[in-house]
Amino acid sequence: MSCMQALRFDNRLLRELPGDPEQGTRLRQVEGAAYSRVAPTPVAAPQLLAYSREMAATLGFSAEDVASEEFARVFGGNALLPGMQPWAANYGGHQFGHWAGQLGDGRAISLGEAVNAAGERWELQLKGAGPTPYSRGADGRAVLRSSLREFLCSEAMHHLGVPTTRALSLVGSGEAVVRDMFYDGHPQAEPGALVCRVAPSFLRFGSFELPASRGDHALLRAMADFAIRRDFPHLQGQGEALYADWFAEICERTARLLAAWMRVGFVHGVMNTDNMSILGLTIDYGPYGWVDDYDPMWTPNTTDAQRRRYRYGQQPDVAWWNLSRLAGALAPLFGGVEPLQAGLDRYVETYAAADRESTAAKLGLAVCRDEDVTLMHDLQALLQQAEVDMSLWFRGLGECGGEATSTEPLREAFYDEDKRQHAEAGFVDWLTRYRARLADDPLSPPQRLARMRAANPCYVLRNYLAQEAIDRAEQGDTGGIDELLEVLRHPYDVQPGRERYAQRRPEWARHKAGCSMLSCSS
Ligand code: AMP
Ligand code: MG
Repeated sequence: MSCMQALRFDNRLLRELPGDPEQGTRLRQVEGAAYSRVAPTPVAAPQLLAYSREMAATLGFSAEDVASEEFARVFGGNALLPGMQPWAANYGGHQFGHWAGQLGDGRAISLGEAVNAAGERWELQLKGAGPTPYSRGADGRAVLRSSLREFLCSEAMHHLGVPTTRALSLVGSGEAVVRDMFYDGHPQAEPGALVCRVAPSFLRFGSFELPASRGDHALLRAMADFAIRRDFPHLQGQGEALYADWFAEICERTARLLAAWMRVGFVHGVMNTDNMSILGLTIDYGPYGWVDDYDPMWTPNTTDAQRRRYRYGQQPDVAWWNLSRLAGALAPLFGGVEPLQAGLDRYVETYAAADRESTAAKLGLAVCRDEDVTLMHDLQALLQQAEVDMSLWFRGLGECGGEATSTEPLREAFYDEDKRQHAEAGFVDWLTRYRARLADDPLSPPQRLARMRAANPCYVLRNYLAQEAIDRAEQGDTGGIDELLEVLRHPYDVQPGRERYAQRRPEWARHKAGCSMLSCSS
């Protein structure tokens, strides 16, 4: 028997929560149930395009397992391992600020909750596995470009130390999927692919909002009790106090997540409440992007280009708003609103502390004093005004060892020479203040460099890098995925010979589809 066949499944969600009595893909409103049983729809020719060796090892899969035809069949949706019992989860959500009702897994199908040799629980979920009762008229499939982006970014975030759902595999379906990429009346056939996502839990804020919106307090309570039991087993206590601790922890984890996104320059793009994990993981990689030139107003999502609700600089506030929706949903579990308000306050405090820690680490300071917050804000204003690459600036600042007296040694970080010269006086002034601050800091130069390198990634999944890998993969060459994955395994380390991956966005990518703008079409 292969290691893959020996993987144990313990599908607690199915066992402990009420399910939809109907099976199959008929579109329907599903009341009183947390999930519907539905099988993946087989694809024409499943072919493994890429996999994460770390995730394979975590699940106990051998190299032979991964290379086998069986692996591509299972993770393409054409076969099940013993113990897999596929289902689609039921949830709702606030989309772009409005309650959207029932959404559910329209193209994600969970295969089972694997329990590995270490006793860890990892839910395996295929994205792009075909229609479910929640597909709302769409096809349940995913295109190669979006699946590849989800696969790579899941693993890149993990290696950056940002909480995230993981990805085991990327499997081509051998089928075409038709998408109108910019919703402008130009549908095209594109290659299809599936990602196998992996996480301890895929429960979202919307999982609780849906029963609450229907006044189904029995299901709401059952789901909260289940989430606490399965996903927060360290929480003790009972009744309201337990629910309060649980909500406070969700708030705390979400705050840490947002501080991590802001530190590395990640923009989720679609922070709807159905895309918010109760474990504080980054979940649902769609039209996400990485900040190149520092700009709090930037969003990669063309669908959000008008209002920019989910722009980089607004993410921490949006997360608070999303938590307040969750608080509203959980209110029936409480006698009064005080514990929920306390949780939301916890978010604000935790975020502020985590953001100060980011400031200290990014600037190479032992601790962040009040005046350092101002120092950082003043720097950010300059970076925005002069169109400076966020990753290259902070990385370069560390490598200068606090010695820079002008922007000359940091020239690489600038996108526009005129803007650099125009802002030079401001930067010289800022660098003077920075050097004075460093003189008053206890860290030694090597300590400072190590601290800055650990907080400021050298390699992030810039949109154009992902697009280059996509262009190659669409021509049948998966080499670009492997190369990128290898670089992104060690995002904080200097990797000689791989300078190309740390460069600023090339000019051709400034306005190219997939590089600077992405739609929700996926
Ligand atoms: P997202 O913006 O990816 O979080 O998706 C929002 C909702 O639309 C979720 O309920 C998805 O399952 C559903 N959805 C997105 N794309 C598809 C598709 N191609 N087929 C079926 N459902 C989809
Ligand atoms: Mg979603």
